[in-house]
Amino acid sequence: MTPYNDSSEVAQFIAGQRTSGSGNRTQPVYNPASGAVARQVRLGNGQDVDAAVAAATAAFPAWSETPPIRRARVMFKFLELLNRHKDELAAMITSEHGKVFTDAQGEVARGIDIVEFACGIPQLLKGDYTEQVSTGIDNWTVRQALGVVAGITPFNFPVMVPMWMFPVAIAAGNTFVLKPSPTDPSPSLFIADLLQQAGLPDGVFNVVQGDKEAVDALLVHPDVKAISFVGSTPIANYIYETGARHGKRVQALGGAKNHMVVMPDADIDQAVDALVGAGYGSAGERCMAISVAVLVGDVADQLIPKLVERTKTLQVLDGMNLAAEMGPIVTDAARQRISGYIEAGVQEGAQLLVDGRGFDGTQAGAGCEQGFWLGGTLFDHVTPEMKIYREEIFGPVLACVRVPDFATAVQLINDHEFGNGTACFTRDGNVAREFARRIQVGMVGINVPIPVPMAWHGFGGWKRSLFGDMHAYGEEGVRFYTKQKSIMQRWPESIGKGAEFVMPTAK
Ligand code: NAD
Repeated sequence: MTPYNDSSEVAQFIAGQRTSGSGNRTQPVYNPASGAVARQVRLGNGQDVDAAVAAATAAFPAWSETPPIRRARVMFKFLELLNRHKDELAAMITSEHGKVFTDAQGEVARGIDIVEFACGIPQLLKGDYTEQVSTGIDNWTVRQALGVVAGITPFNFPVMVPMWMFPVAIAAGNTFVLKPSPTDPSPSLFIADLLQQAGLPDGVFNVVQGDKEAVDALLVHPDVKAISFVGSTPIANYIYETGARHGKRVQALGGAKNHMVVMPDADIDQAVDALVGAGYGSAGERCMAISVAVLVGDVADQLIPKLVERTKTLQVLDGMNLAAEMGPIVTDAARQRISGYIEAGVQEGAQLLVDGRGFDGTQAGAGCEQGFWLGGTLFDHVTPEMKIYREEIFGPVLACVRVPDFATAVQLINDHEFGNGTACFTRDGNVAREFARRIQVGMVGINVPIPVPMAWHGFGGWKRSLFGDMHAYGEEGVRFYTKQKSIMQRWPESIGKGAEFVMPTAK
Protein backbone atom coordinates (compact mmCIF):
# COMPACT_ATOMS: atom_id res chain seq x y z
CA MET A 1 0.00 0.00 0.00
CA THR A 2 1.21 3.51 -0.82
CA PRO A 3 2.58 5.24 2.27
CA TYR A 4 0.51 8.25 3.27
CA ASN A 5 2.63 10.11 5.74
CA ASP A 6 5.28 10.92 3.18
CA SER A 7 5.66 14.36 1.67
CA SER A 8 3.58 13.61 -1.40
CA GLU A 9 0.43 15.28 -2.58
CA VAL A 10 -3.03 14.17 -1.48
CA ALA A 11 -5.50 14.25 -4.34
CA GLN A 12 -8.63 12.59 -5.71
CA PHE A 13 -9.93 9.02 -5.80
CA ILE A 14 -12.33 8.63 -8.69
CA ALA A 15 -13.64 5.44 -10.33
CA GLY A 16 -11.21 3.31 -8.32
CA GLN A 17 -8.14 5.35 -9.31
CA ARG A 18 -6.00 7.88 -7.55
CA THR A 19 -5.76 10.94 -9.75
CA SER A 20 -4.54 14.50 -9.45
CA GLY A 21 -7.70 15.67 -11.16
CA SER A 22 -7.87 18.89 -13.09
CA GLY A 23 -7.79 21.50 -10.34
CA ASN A 24 -4.66 23.64 -10.24
CA ARG A 25 -4.97 24.98 -6.70
CA THR A 26 -3.25 23.33 -3.72
CA GLN A 27 -3.27 23.95 0.01
CA PRO A 28 -0.64 23.00 2.58
CA VAL A 29 -1.41 20.25 5.09
CA TYR A 30 0.37 20.84 8.39
CA ASN A 31 1.57 18.72 11.22
CA PRO A 32 0.09 20.90 13.99
CA ALA A 33 2.52 19.62 16.62
CA SER A 34 5.60 20.81 14.72
CA GLY A 35 3.97 23.49 12.60
CA ALA A 36 5.71 22.05 9.53
CA VAL A 37 4.05 21.62 6.15
CA ALA A 38 3.72 17.86 5.77
CA ARG A 39 2.27 17.69 2.27
CA GLN A 40 -0.06 19.49 -0.12
CA VAL A 41 -3.68 18.74 -0.87
CA ARG A 42 -4.86 19.33 -4.42
CA LEU A 43 -8.20 21.12 -4.32
CA GLY A 44 -10.71 19.59 -6.69
CA ASN A 45 -12.72 21.74 -9.08
CA GLY A 46 -16.06 21.41 -10.88
CA GLN A 47 -14.57 19.03 -13.46
CA ASP A 48 -13.33 16.71 -10.71
CA VAL A 49 -16.78 16.74 -9.13
CA ASP A 50 -18.33 15.98 -12.53
CA ALA A 51 -15.92 13.06 -12.99
CA ALA A 52 -16.63 11.67 -9.51
CA VAL A 53 -20.40 12.00 -9.92
CA ALA A 54 -20.20 10.39 -13.37
CA ALA A 55 -18.24 7.45 -11.90
CA ALA A 56 -20.77 7.11 -9.08
CA THR A 57 -23.68 7.35 -11.53
CA ALA A 58 -22.17 4.61 -13.70
CA ALA A 59 -21.62 2.35 -10.68
CA PHE A 60 -25.12 2.83 -9.26
CA PRO A 61 -27.24 0.41 -11.36
CA ALA A 62 -25.12 -2.67 -10.63
CA TRP A 63 -24.42 -1.76 -7.02
CA SER A 64 -28.05 -1.02 -6.15
CA GLU A 65 -29.04 -4.32 -7.80
CA THR A 66 -26.49 -6.24 -5.75
CA PRO A 67 -28.37 -8.14 -3.03
CA PRO A 68 -28.09 -6.43 0.37
CA ILE A 69 -26.40 -9.45 1.90
CA ARG A 70 -23.63 -9.25 -0.68
CA ARG A 71 -23.23 -5.54 -0.06
CA ALA A 72 -23.03 -6.39 3.64
CA ARG A 73 -20.26 -8.89 2.94
CA VAL A 74 -18.16 -6.10 1.44
CA MET A 75 -18.79 -4.14 4.64
CA PHE A 76 -17.71 -7.13 6.75
CA LYS A 77 -14.48 -7.36 4.78
CA PHE A 78 -13.97 -3.59 5.13
CA LEU A 79 -14.53 -3.96 8.88
CA GLU A 80 -11.84 -6.64 9.05
CA LEU A 81 -9.38 -4.39 7.18
CA LEU A 82 -10.22 -1.40 9.37
CA ASN A 83 -9.54 -3.43 12.48
CA ARG A 84 -6.21 -4.51 11.02
CA HIS A 85 -5.19 -0.93 10.11
CA LYS A 86 -6.89 1.05 12.86
CA ASP A 87 -3.70 2.23 14.54
CA GLU A 88 -2.26 3.45 11.24
CA LEU A 89 -5.44 5.43 10.71
CA ALA A 90 -5.24 6.82 14.25
CA ALA A 91 -1.61 7.87 13.77
CA MET A 92 -2.57 9.57 10.52
CA ILE A 93 -5.29 11.51 12.36
CA THR A 94 -2.82 12.62 15.04
CA SER A 95 -0.27 13.71 12.47
CA GLU A 96 -2.68 15.99 10.56
CA HIS A 97 -5.23 16.97 13.23
CA GLY A 98 -3.04 16.95 16.33
CA LYS A 99 -5.41 15.16 18.73
CA VAL A 100 -3.70 12.71 21.06
CA PHE A 101 -3.16 9.21 19.70
CA THR A 102 -5.42 7.44 22.22
CA ASP A 103 -8.21 9.90 21.39
CA ALA A 104 -7.63 9.25 17.68
CA GLN A 105 -7.92 5.52 18.41
CA GLY A 106 -11.25 6.28 20.06
CA GLU A 107 -12.36 8.21 16.98
CA VAL A 108 -11.53 5.26 14.73
CA ALA A 109 -13.32 2.88 17.11
CA ARG A 110 -16.50 4.99 17.03
CA GLY A 111 -16.32 5.00 13.22
CA ILE A 112 -15.92 1.23 13.22
CA ASP A 113 -19.13 0.99 15.29
CA ILE A 114 -21.05 2.46 12.35
CA VAL A 115 -19.46 0.03 9.89
CA GLU A 116 -20.60 -2.80 12.19
CA PHE A 117 -24.09 -1.29 12.16
CA ALA A 118 -24.04 -1.08 8.36
CA CYS A 119 -23.14 -4.78 8.18
CA GLY A 120 -26.72 -5.39 9.37
CA ILE A 121 -28.20 -3.76 6.28
CA PRO A 122 -30.27 -6.78 5.14
CA GLN A 123 -32.22 -6.59 8.40
CA LEU A 124 -32.38 -2.78 8.31
CA LEU A 125 -33.83 -2.75 4.79
CA LYS A 126 -36.42 -5.38 5.56
CA GLY A 127 -39.77 -3.88 4.65
CA ASP A 128 -43.18 -4.44 6.20
CA TYR A 129 -46.06 -6.39 4.74
CA THR A 130 -49.81 -6.52 5.31
CA GLU A 131 -51.63 -9.47 3.92
CA GLN A 132 -55.26 -9.01 2.87
CA VAL A 133 -55.67 -5.22 3.17
CA SER A 134 -58.79 -5.91 1.15
CA THR A 135 -60.03 -9.26 -0.08
CA GLY A 136 -57.32 -10.72 -2.32
CA ILE A 137 -55.10 -7.62 -1.98
CA ASP A 138 -51.77 -7.29 -0.17
CA ASN A 139 -49.80 -4.13 0.56
CA TRP A 140 -46.12 -3.81 1.46
CA THR A 141 -43.39 -1.24 1.83
CA VAL A 142 -39.79 -1.31 0.64
CA ARG A 143 -36.96 1.18 0.94
CA GLN A 144 -34.82 1.75 -2.14
CA ALA A 145 -31.51 3.56 -2.61
CA LEU A 146 -31.53 7.19 -3.79
CA GLY A 147 -28.64 7.09 -6.29
CA VAL A 148 -25.49 9.22 -5.97
CA VAL A 149 -25.19 10.83 -2.54
CA ALA A 150 -22.45 13.13 -1.22
CA GLY A 151 -20.82 13.72 2.15
CA ILE A 152 -19.06 16.97 3.11
CA THR A 153 -17.11 16.66 6.33
CA PRO A 154 -15.22 18.81 8.88
CA PHE A 155 -11.60 18.69 10.00
CA ASN A 156 -12.24 17.59 13.55
CA PHE A 157 -13.14 13.93 12.89
CA PRO A 158 -11.52 13.02 9.57
CA VAL A 159 -12.35 9.31 10.00
CA MET A 160 -15.40 9.11 12.24
CA VAL A 161 -17.60 11.73 10.58
CA PRO A 162 -17.21 10.31 7.04
CA MET A 163 -18.08 6.98 8.67
CA TRP A 164 -21.30 8.45 10.02
CA MET A 165 -22.26 8.65 6.36
CA PHE A 166 -20.76 6.36 3.73
CA PRO A 167 -21.07 2.93 5.42
CA VAL A 168 -24.84 3.31 5.76
CA ALA A 169 -25.26 5.03 2.39
CA ILE A 170 -23.26 2.42 0.50
CA ALA A 171 -24.68 -0.58 2.32
CA ALA A 172 -28.16 0.73 1.45
CA GLY A 173 -27.22 0.58 -2.25
CA ASN A 174 -26.21 4.18 -2.99
CA THR A 175 -22.95 5.33 -4.52
CA PHE A 176 -20.96 8.02 -2.75
CA VAL A 177 -18.79 11.09 -3.26
CA LEU A 178 -16.87 12.25 -0.18
CA LYS A 179 -15.55 15.81 0.05
CA PRO A 180 -13.33 15.75 3.16
CA SER A 181 -11.84 18.72 4.97
CA PRO A 182 -8.67 19.92 3.22
CA THR A 183 -7.09 20.43 6.64
CA ASP A 184 -6.56 16.68 7.27
CA PRO A 185 -7.28 14.93 3.98
CA SER A 186 -5.05 11.82 4.09
CA PRO A 187 -7.37 9.39 5.93
CA SER A 188 -9.96 9.71 3.14
CA LEU A 189 -7.59 8.07 0.65
CA PHE A 190 -6.59 5.35 3.08
CA ILE A 191 -10.29 4.58 3.55
CA ALA A 192 -10.80 4.51 -0.23
CA ASP A 193 -7.97 1.98 -0.57
CA LEU A 194 -9.38 -0.24 2.19
CA LEU A 195 -12.83 -0.19 0.59
CA GLN A 196 -11.29 -1.19 -2.73
CA GLN A 197 -9.37 -4.01 -1.06
CA ALA A 198 -12.62 -5.12 0.55
CA GLY A 199 -14.03 -5.67 -2.93
CA LEU A 200 -16.13 -2.54 -3.35
CA PRO A 201 -16.67 -2.04 -7.09
CA ASP A 202 -14.95 0.97 -8.64
CA GLY A 203 -17.05 4.11 -8.64
CA VAL A 204 -19.14 3.21 -5.59
CA PHE A 205 -16.93 5.34 -3.31
CA ASN A 206 -15.13 8.40 -4.65
CA VAL A 207 -13.20 11.21 -2.98
CA VAL A 208 -12.87 14.77 -4.21
CA GLN A 209 -10.62 16.91 -2.05
CA GLY A 210 -11.33 20.60 -1.97
CA ASP A 211 -13.04 23.62 -0.56
CA LYS A 212 -16.03 25.81 -1.47
CA GLU A 213 -15.50 25.29 -5.21
CA ALA A 214 -15.96 21.50 -4.98
CA VAL A 215 -18.79 21.85 -2.45
CA ASP A 216 -20.69 24.28 -4.67
CA ALA A 217 -20.31 21.94 -7.66
CA LEU A 218 -21.84 19.11 -5.60
CA LEU A 219 -24.67 21.30 -4.34
CA VAL A 220 -25.92 22.16 -7.81
CA HIS A 221 -25.13 18.89 -9.58
CA PRO A 222 -28.38 17.44 -10.95
CA ASP A 223 -27.23 13.82 -10.41
CA VAL A 224 -26.50 14.21 -6.70
CA LYS A 225 -29.66 13.15 -4.87
CA ALA A 226 -28.71 13.84 -1.27
CA ILE A 227 -26.11 15.73 0.73
CA SER A 228 -24.93 14.95 4.24
CA PHE A 229 -22.95 17.78 5.78
CA VAL A 230 -21.18 18.21 9.11
CA GLY A 231 -19.41 21.45 9.94
CA SER A 232 -20.01 24.94 11.29
CA THR A 233 -23.48 26.47 11.51
CA PRO A 234 -23.15 29.23 8.87
CA ILE A 235 -21.97 26.68 6.30
CA ALA A 236 -24.56 24.10 7.40
CA ASN A 237 -27.27 26.71 6.89
CA TYR A 238 -25.90 27.55 3.43
CA ILE A 239 -25.65 23.86 2.45
CA TYR A 240 -29.21 23.20 3.59
CA GLU A 241 -30.71 26.15 1.73
CA THR A 242 -28.68 25.68 -1.45
CA GLY A 243 -29.09 21.91 -1.56
CA ALA A 244 -32.84 22.13 -0.95
CA ARG A 245 -33.17 24.81 -3.65
CA HIS A 246 -31.60 22.34 -6.05
CA GLY A 247 -34.05 19.61 -5.13
CA LYS A 248 -31.79 17.55 -2.88
CA ARG A 249 -32.45 15.79 0.36
CA VAL A 250 -30.15 17.47 2.92
CA GLN A 251 -29.04 16.78 6.47
CA ALA A 252 -26.66 19.50 7.65
CA LEU A 253 -25.21 19.22 11.14
CA GLY A 254 -23.79 22.45 12.52
CA GLY A 255 -21.95 23.96 15.45
CA ALA A 256 -22.52 23.78 19.16
CA LYS A 257 -22.16 25.34 22.58
CA ASN A 258 -22.61 22.47 25.00
CA HIS A 259 -23.46 23.16 28.62
CA MET A 260 -22.80 20.88 31.55
CA VAL A 261 -24.90 21.58 34.62
CA VAL A 262 -23.38 20.71 37.98
CA MET A 263 -25.99 20.44 40.73
CA PRO A 264 -25.05 20.99 44.39
CA ASP A 265 -25.56 17.28 45.14
CA ALA A 266 -23.16 16.11 42.39
CA ASP A 267 -19.91 14.32 43.17
CA ILE A 268 -17.49 17.23 42.76
CA ASP A 269 -14.45 15.17 41.80
CA GLN A 270 -16.41 13.32 39.14
CA ALA A 271 -17.75 16.63 37.81
CA VAL A 272 -14.22 18.13 37.65
CA ASP A 273 -12.92 15.07 35.80
CA ALA A 274 -15.84 15.32 33.37
CA LEU A 275 -15.28 19.04 32.76
CA VAL A 276 -11.56 18.81 32.05
CA GLY A 277 -11.99 15.73 29.85
CA ALA A 278 -14.93 17.09 27.87
CA GLY A 279 -13.67 20.69 27.84
CA TYR A 280 -10.04 20.15 26.89
CA GLY A 281 -10.07 16.69 25.25
CA SER A 282 -9.18 17.03 21.55
CA ALA A 283 -8.29 20.66 22.45
CA GLY A 284 -12.02 21.44 22.64
CA GLU A 285 -12.29 20.81 18.90
CA ARG A 286 -15.30 18.52 19.21
CA CYS A 287 -18.87 19.39 18.38
CA MET A 288 -19.77 17.60 21.62
CA ALA A 289 -17.08 19.31 23.73
CA ILE A 290 -18.35 20.93 26.91
CA SER A 291 -17.62 24.63 26.60
CA VAL A 292 -19.88 25.96 29.36
CA ALA A 293 -19.99 24.74 32.97
CA VAL A 294 -23.26 25.80 34.58
CA LEU A 295 -22.60 25.84 38.30
CA VAL A 296 -25.78 25.75 40.40
CA GLY A 297 -26.08 27.30 43.86
CA ASP A 298 -22.90 27.17 45.92
CA VAL A 299 -21.27 24.35 43.95
CA ALA A 300 -18.76 26.81 42.41
CA ASP A 301 -17.05 27.39 45.76
CA GLN A 302 -15.94 23.76 45.96
CA LEU A 303 -15.54 23.07 42.26
CA ILE A 304 -13.62 26.09 40.93
CA PRO A 305 -10.39 25.61 42.96
CA LYS A 306 -10.18 21.98 41.81
CA LEU A 307 -10.91 22.94 38.22
CA VAL A 308 -8.20 25.61 38.28
CA GLU A 309 -5.68 23.08 39.56
CA ARG A 310 -6.58 20.48 36.90
CA THR A 311 -6.52 23.06 34.10
CA LYS A 312 -3.09 24.32 35.15
CA THR A 313 -1.67 20.80 35.29
CA LEU A 314 -3.14 19.53 32.00
CA GLN A 315 -0.60 17.42 30.14
CA VAL A 316 -0.35 19.39 26.90
CA LEU A 317 2.05 17.36 24.78
CA ASP A 318 2.77 16.07 21.31
CA GLY A 319 -0.18 13.80 20.53
CA MET A 320 2.04 10.76 19.96
CA ASN A 321 3.31 11.02 23.55
CA LEU A 322 1.12 8.54 25.44
CA ALA A 323 1.14 10.80 28.50
CA ALA A 324 -0.60 13.57 26.54
CA GLU A 325 -4.07 14.69 27.64
CA MET A 326 -4.29 17.43 25.04
CA GLY A 327 -2.41 18.08 21.79
CA PRO A 328 -1.97 21.21 19.66
CA ILE A 329 -4.62 23.32 17.94
CA VAL A 330 -5.29 22.25 14.37
CA THR A 331 -3.92 25.32 12.56
CA ASP A 332 -2.26 28.60 13.38
CA ALA A 333 -5.36 30.44 12.12
CA ALA A 334 -7.51 28.49 14.59
CA ARG A 335 -5.05 29.26 17.38
CA GLN A 336 -5.24 32.96 16.58
CA ARG A 337 -9.06 32.86 16.44
CA ILE A 338 -9.23 31.15 19.85
CA SER A 339 -6.71 33.63 21.33
CA GLY A 340 -8.94 36.42 20.03
CA TYR A 341 -11.88 34.97 21.94
CA ILE A 342 -9.81 34.80 25.12
CA GLU A 343 -8.96 38.47 24.70
CA ALA A 344 -12.65 39.27 24.07
CA GLY A 345 -13.59 37.45 27.30
CA VAL A 346 -11.12 39.57 29.26
CA GLN A 347 -12.39 42.78 27.62
CA GLU A 348 -15.99 41.89 28.42
CA GLY A 349 -15.20 41.42 32.09
CA ALA A 350 -15.12 37.64 32.56
CA GLN A 351 -12.64 36.49 35.18
CA LEU A 352 -9.70 34.74 33.50
CA LEU A 353 -8.58 32.06 35.96
CA VAL A 354 -6.17 30.18 33.69
CA ASP A 355 -4.77 31.71 30.50
CA GLY A 356 -3.64 29.15 27.89
CA ARG A 357 -2.07 31.80 25.66
CA GLY A 358 1.20 31.67 27.53
CA PHE A 359 1.82 28.04 26.66
CA ASP A 360 5.20 27.51 25.05
CA GLY A 361 5.60 24.71 22.49
CA THR A 362 8.99 23.72 23.89
CA GLN A 363 7.09 22.22 26.85
CA ALA A 364 5.21 19.90 24.46
CA GLY A 365 8.22 17.90 23.33
CA ALA A 366 11.15 17.89 20.96
CA GLY A 367 10.40 19.50 17.60
CA CYS A 368 7.26 21.24 18.90
CA GLU A 369 8.71 24.75 19.17
CA GLN A 370 6.93 26.01 16.05
CA GLY A 371 3.69 24.06 16.57
CA PHE A 372 0.22 25.52 17.06
CA TRP A 373 0.05 25.36 20.84
CA LEU A 374 -2.29 26.74 23.45
CA GLY A 375 -2.84 25.61 27.02
CA GLY A 376 -6.24 25.07 28.63
CA THR A 377 -8.09 28.30 29.42
CA LEU A 378 -10.63 28.77 32.19
CA PHE A 379 -13.04 31.66 32.73
CA ASP A 380 -15.33 32.28 35.69
CA HIS A 381 -18.24 34.73 36.05
CA VAL A 382 -19.16 34.46 32.38
CA THR A 383 -22.60 35.90 31.56
CA PRO A 384 -25.02 35.15 28.71
CA GLU A 385 -24.42 38.50 26.97
CA MET A 386 -20.72 37.84 26.47
CA LYS A 387 -19.37 36.81 23.07
CA ILE A 388 -17.43 33.94 24.70
CA TYR A 389 -20.77 32.59 25.93
CA ARG A 390 -22.84 33.14 22.79
CA GLU A 391 -20.42 31.94 20.11
CA GLU A 392 -18.77 28.61 19.45
CA ILE A 393 -15.04 29.03 20.18
CA PHE A 394 -14.03 25.49 19.19
CA GLY A 395 -10.91 25.45 21.31
CA PRO A 396 -9.73 24.57 24.84
CA VAL A 397 -11.65 27.36 26.56
CA LEU A 398 -14.08 26.52 29.34
CA ALA A 399 -16.53 29.18 30.55
CA CYS A 400 -18.13 28.90 33.99
CA VAL A 401 -21.55 30.49 34.43
CA ARG A 402 -22.99 30.68 37.95
CA VAL A 403 -26.77 30.31 38.34
CA PRO A 404 -28.92 30.27 41.49
CA ASP A 405 -31.06 27.22 40.75
CA PHE A 406 -31.96 24.35 38.43
CA ALA A 407 -34.78 26.22 36.67
CA THR A 408 -32.39 29.03 35.70
CA ALA A 409 -29.89 26.48 34.38
CA VAL A 410 -32.54 24.87 32.17
CA GLN A 411 -33.74 28.26 30.91
CA LEU A 412 -30.18 29.35 30.10
CA ILE A 413 -29.58 26.27 27.97
CA ASN A 414 -32.95 26.45 26.26
CA ASP A 415 -32.37 30.09 25.34
CA HIS A 416 -29.07 29.34 23.54
CA GLU A 417 -29.19 29.24 19.73
CA PHE A 418 -27.37 25.88 19.63
CA GLY A 419 -28.76 22.61 20.88
CA ASN A 420 -26.28 19.86 20.09
CA GLY A 421 -25.34 18.18 23.39
CA THR A 422 -25.72 18.84 27.09
CA ALA A 423 -25.16 17.10 30.40
CA CYS A 424 -26.38 17.27 33.98
CA PHE A 425 -24.37 15.98 36.92
CA THR A 426 -26.56 15.12 39.88
CA ARG A 427 -27.49 12.31 42.26
CA ASP A 428 -31.17 13.27 42.25
CA GLY A 429 -33.24 11.05 39.96
CA ASN A 430 -36.07 13.53 39.68
CA VAL A 431 -33.75 16.39 38.69
CA ALA A 432 -32.17 14.10 36.09
CA ARG A 433 -35.57 13.10 34.73
CA GLU A 434 -36.81 16.70 34.56
CA PHE A 435 -33.58 17.77 32.86
CA ALA A 436 -33.88 15.09 30.17
CA ARG A 437 -37.54 15.99 29.58
CA ARG A 438 -37.35 19.78 29.55
CA ILE A 439 -34.07 20.50 27.84
CA GLN A 440 -34.23 21.73 24.22
CA VAL A 441 -31.14 19.85 23.07
CA GLY A 442 -30.80 16.80 20.82
CA MET A 443 -28.34 14.71 22.87
CA VAL A 444 -28.49 14.61 26.65
CA GLY A 445 -26.13 13.07 29.20
CA ILE A 446 -27.04 12.31 32.78
CA ASN A 447 -23.67 12.13 34.54
CA VAL A 448 -22.25 11.49 31.04
CA PRO A 449 -20.41 14.59 29.74
CA ILE A 450 -20.23 13.64 26.04
CA PRO A 451 -23.36 11.64 25.21
CA VAL A 452 -22.51 10.71 21.60
CA PRO A 453 -25.23 8.18 20.71
CA MET A 454 -24.20 4.68 19.74
CA ALA A 455 -24.23 3.53 16.12
CA TRP A 456 -27.80 2.23 16.15
CA HIS A 457 -29.32 5.32 17.88
CA GLY A 458 -28.43 8.16 15.50
CA PHE A 459 -26.65 11.49 16.08
CA GLY A 460 -28.11 14.96 15.79
CA GLY A 461 -28.67 18.21 17.60
CA TRP A 462 -31.64 20.58 17.75
CA LYS A 463 -32.07 24.27 16.95
CA ARG A 464 -29.19 25.74 14.88
CA SER A 465 -27.08 22.62 15.41
CA LEU A 466 -29.00 20.67 12.76
CA PHE A 467 -30.69 21.75 9.53
CA GLY A 468 -33.01 19.09 8.17
CA ASP A 469 -35.00 16.45 9.98
CA MET A 470 -33.01 13.29 10.05
CA HIS A 471 -30.10 12.52 12.29
CA ALA A 472 -26.88 10.90 11.10
CA TYR A 473 -26.49 7.09 11.17
CA GLY A 474 -28.74 4.66 13.07
CA GLU A 475 -32.18 3.97 11.64
CA GLU A 476 -32.61 7.65 10.74
CA GLY A 477 -29.46 7.31 8.63
CA VAL A 478 -30.99 4.37 6.78
CA ARG A 479 -34.16 6.39 6.20
CA PHE A 480 -32.15 9.38 4.98
CA TYR A 481 -30.34 7.32 2.35
CA THR A 482 -33.42 5.46 1.09
CA LYS A 483 -36.84 6.36 -0.21
CA GLN A 484 -39.96 4.47 0.70
CA LYS A 485 -42.10 2.73 -1.87
CA SER A 486 -45.46 1.19 -1.11
CA ILE A 487 -46.71 -1.63 -3.33
CA MET A 488 -50.27 -2.91 -3.51
CA GLN A 489 -50.96 -6.09 -5.41
CA ARG A 490 -53.79 -8.38 -6.45
CA TRP A 491 -54.05 -11.16 -9.00
CA PRO A 492 -56.67 -11.64 -11.72
CA GLU A 493 -58.62 -14.26 -9.71
CA SER A 494 -59.53 -11.65 -7.09
CA ILE A 495 -60.44 -8.81 -9.46
CA GLY A 496 -64.21 -8.22 -9.59
CA LYS A 497 -65.96 -7.48 -12.89
CA GLY A 498 -66.53 -3.88 -14.04
CA ALA A 499 -64.81 -0.55 -13.60
CA GLU A 500 -64.80 1.01 -10.12
CA PHE A 501 -65.42 4.76 -9.95
CA VAL A 502 -65.49 5.24 -6.21
CA MET A 503 -62.58 5.52 -3.82
CA PRO A 504 -61.43 1.94 -3.13
CA THR A 505 -62.12 0.80 0.43
CA ALA A 506 -61.46 -2.49 2.19
CA LYS A 507 -63.91 -5.17 1.12
P1 NAD B 1 -16.39 24.17 8.32
O1 NAD B 1 -17.82 24.53 8.33
O2 NAD B 1 -15.38 25.24 8.13
O3 NAD B 1 -16.08 23.10 7.15
C1 NAD B 1 -16.87 21.96 7.00
C2 NAD B 1 -16.83 21.53 5.54
O4 NAD B 1 -17.41 22.56 4.73
C3 NAD B 1 -15.43 21.29 5.01
O5 NAD B 1 -15.46 20.17 4.16
C4 NAD B 1 -15.12 22.58 4.27
O6 NAD B 1 -14.18 22.37 3.22
C5 NAD B 1 -16.47 23.00 3.75
N1 NAD B 1 -16.60 24.46 3.65
C6 NAD B 1 -15.98 25.39 4.41
N2 NAD B 1 -16.36 26.63 4.03
C7 NAD B 1 -17.22 26.49 3.02
C8 NAD B 1 -17.96 27.41 2.21
N3 NAD B 1 -17.87 28.72 2.39
N4 NAD B 1 -18.77 26.90 1.28
C9 NAD B 1 -18.88 25.58 1.08
N5 NAD B 1 -18.20 24.66 1.82
C10 NAD B 1 -17.39 25.11 2.78
O7 NAD B 1 -16.10 23.36 9.66
P2 NAD B 1 -14.71 22.86 10.25
O8 NAD B 1 -13.96 24.02 10.78
O9 NAD B 1 -14.06 21.93 9.31
O10 NAD B 1 -15.25 21.97 11.47
C11 NAD B 1 -15.58 22.52 12.72
C12 NAD B 1 -17.06 22.80 12.82
O11 NAD B 1 -17.79 21.59 12.59
C13 NAD B 1 -17.47 23.25 14.21
O12 NAD B 1 -18.41 24.29 14.06
C14 NAD B 1 -18.12 22.02 14.81
O13 NAD B 1 -19.07 22.26 15.82
C15 NAD B 1 -18.75 21.41 13.62
N6 NAD B 1 -19.03 20.00 13.81
C16 NAD B 1 -20.32 19.65 14.03
C17 NAD B 1 -20.62 18.33 14.27
C18 NAD B 1 -22.04 17.91 14.51
O14 NAD B 1 -22.29 16.73 14.51
N7 NAD B 1 -22.98 18.80 14.71
C19 NAD B 1 -19.61 17.36 14.26
C20 NAD B 1 -18.30 17.77 14.01
C21 NAD B 1 -18.02 19.10 13.79
